[in-house]
Amino acid sequence: MPRPIQAYINQSALENNLGVARRTTSARIMSVIKADGYGHGLLRAAEALSATDGYALLDIADAVKLREAGYRQPILMLEGIFGADELPTIAEYGLACVIHSAQQIAMLDAYPGRGTLDIWLKVNTGMGRLGFVPQQVAQVMEQLRRHRAVRDITLMTHFANADEARGIAAPLALFNDIASPYRVPRSLANSATLLRYPEAHGDWVRPGIMLYGASPFADVSAQELGLKPAMTLSSRIIAIQELRAGDEVGYAAIFRAEHSMRIGVVACGYADGYPRSAPNGTPILVDGRRTRTVGRISMDMLCVDLSDLPQAEIGSPVVLWGEDMPIDEVARAAGTVGYELMCALTSRVPITD
Ligand SMILES: *Cc1c(COP(=O)(O)O)cnc(C)c1O
Repeated sequence: MPRPIQAYINQSALENNLGVARRTTSARIMSVIKADGYGHGLLRAAEALSATDGYALLDIADAVKLREAGYRQPILMLEGIFGADELPTIAEYGLACVIHSAQQIAMLDAYPGRGTLDIWLKVNTGMGRLGFVPQQVAQVMEQLRRHRAVRDITLMTHFANADEARGIAAPLALFNDIASPYRVPRSLANSATLLRYPEAHGDWVRPGIMLYGASPFADVSAQELGLKPAMTLSSRIIAIQELRAGDEVGYAAIFRAEHSMRIGVVACGYADGYPRSAPNGTPILVDGRRTRTVGRISMDMLCVDLSDLPQAEIGSPVVLWGEDMPIDEVARAAGTVGYELMCALTSRVPITD
């Protein structure tokens, strides 16, 4: 029997979550499947989301894999090209391409193809990362509209605070102002924007995290949003220890028993992607019941309190996150977000459907 850890991907949860997005907007949906489908597996995520109108990702090799697997929807390269040598592949596979910098435009200038490229012009409305600043957009639009290599243009932006109290009012107004002279499709919405700001849906929404069943918001749970967790990370108890008062657990002895108690050792550690930053008390399910971690998370193991679970034994199933154990709660305890936990799942964890 192999080491008992595994990640189970629930395809119908992905379908359900795409349905939630569908019911929230009349815009077309570009499902974001970057980072190996947020850790769920590129082709597995693509298949479960095949009712989507398009896909968005980063790696050109992944885009080619999707085309070769038969997906015909628009595929958007979210950061565009990293070098001019990618342009023939972009054209050959009919990939849509973000343009966010003058360097990328220079790459287009050197490309001999004609009328083959669909461009998503990215505007920096305050995120301060990728994109042209508002004052540059008119000139860049002019350049791209006349460009021999360019077919269609979409205007896009990405909000920094859609999930925060600050919201999107200022960058949305700025974007609408910039876009107003042009009759081109618009795309502005990540999951948080899609769920909270119908006025910013535009023509194409770009949900990621919600499709995987986690919440983009700190103060609203995935369940409240009607989302179902797509990934369940599970393992088993592989050893049990009886502690006496004063006994310590794990590296650096960050847990010390106040009275005699039983703990279980779970086959899961940071080398599987479980966050080492998870403190004592991080929620976890054993035998379907909630308990808490005790001690420092180690590379291959972590420990759980079995004091209130007398029936738990070696072999008892453990859910680290997923069904009945929201990834957002584990993430919050560990000082991070569900996004990071999903993406951090390591390659040694077998994934099953
Ligand atoms: C990752 C990403 C998204 C999806 O964001 P979520 O918060 O996961 O919904 C949308 N747009 C861009 C440009 C992205 O990079």
